[in-house]
Amino acid sequence: MPQPLENCTNYKCDHCSKKYFRKCDASKHERYCSQNPANNHLCFQMCKNLVRWEEEYEGCRDEIVFTGTRTTFTCILSGQKMYSYIAERKRHPVVTEPDTVRMPLECDKYARITEQEQWDDLFS
Ligand SMILES: [Zn+2]
Repeated sequence: MPQPLENCTNYKCDHCSKKYFRKCDASKHERYCSQNPANNHLCFQMCKNLVRWEEEYEGCRDEIVFTGTRTTFTCILSGQKMYSYIAERKRHPVVTEPDTVRMPLECDKYARITEQEQWDDLFS
C-alpha cells in the first residue's frame, strides 16, 4: 500500500494562492510576494510625487565591469531616493546604498494622481 512520502506537504503562500513543496521556497516567495502587505508600497498607488528615472550604472560581476540601465525612484517632495521590494528580490545594489531607503507603506506626503492629471500626462 502506498505511503505518503515525507516532505510531501504543500505549503501555500499566506497572501496569494501559490503553492510550494518546500517550506523554504514558500517562505522566500512570501517575503517577495506582490500581495504581501509589507510590499504594498504606497508610492506605487499612483502617487504623483513619485518620479521614475532610467539611469545608467556601472556594475561588476565576476571581475568584469559592465554598464546597464536601472530604474530609480525618487520622491519629488522630499528628494529621497527609494527602492522597492522588487529591487530587494533582485538583490539590486541600490538596496545597500546609504542615501536610499525602502519605499514607505505609509506616508504623509502621499497624493494620488487625479484622473485629469493622468490625461494631461498622456497628451503632453
Ligand atoms: Zn504569494
